[in-house]
Amino acid sequence: MSQKLVLASNNAKKTFEMQTLLAPLGLEIIPQARLGVDEAEEPHFTFIENALAKARHAAAATGLPAIADDSGLCVAALGGAPGVHSARFAGEPKSDERNNQFLLERLSDVPESKRNAWYYCCLVLVRHGDDPCPVIADGQWHGLILDTPRGEGGFGYDPLFWLPELEKSAAELDPAHKNALSHRGTAMRQLLERLQKQPLSKESGQP
Ligand code: IMP
Repeated sequence: MSQKLVLASNNAKKTFEMQTLLAPLGLEIIPQARLGVDEAEEPHFTFIENALAKARHAAAATGLPAIADDSGLCVAALGGAPGVHSARFAGEPKSDERNNQFLLERLSDVPESKRNAWYYCCLVLVRHGDDPCPVIADGQWHGLILDTPRGEGGFGYDPLFWLPELEKSAAELDPAHKNALSHRGTAMRQLLERLQKQPLSKESGQP
């Protein structure tokens, strides 16, 4: 029987990206909703604290190892906002379309030369709810914010996230290309490397 790993996310598109990226581990990846786990609170000011809170919540509720991602978009001209508030930038209920519209409004006076931004992703894997040595990895992806959406792929802010060297938005990349370049892909490759030294079994809480 293969080792189970709970995926602490209720975002279907993010879950799909993470399942693809986790495939090399050969584990059984179970989205938390399938085990009846609700969304954790994310009250913190930093991605790492929120990712830890989500991973611990899922592991404590299921008794299984869990992995969480906390990620978001940071815009230089907005002092790093929306940051940890990316999912709900335009308020409740969360909506990618309203978030993108709100971002365009906030940047309406900002010239192209000052529209730089980056995605950030922090991944945390805990072997159990009280794991003293979580496996932690992170990644960044830099681009510019467009003034009109482009492309149908990806999710979230991808239609506004412009990659000048490719002359495409993140929403115009196919899923494999996005995973090869993205903040989440970079963080996941780092996490997989760290897992080789810090195995997943419950007994190995040591780095
Ligand atoms: P979380 O689920 O609380 O980590 O919220 C992440 C939010 O950040 C998402 O709802 C998106 O708005 C944004 N985000 C994170 N990663 C991406 C990405 O790869 N593409 C587009 N938006 C992203």
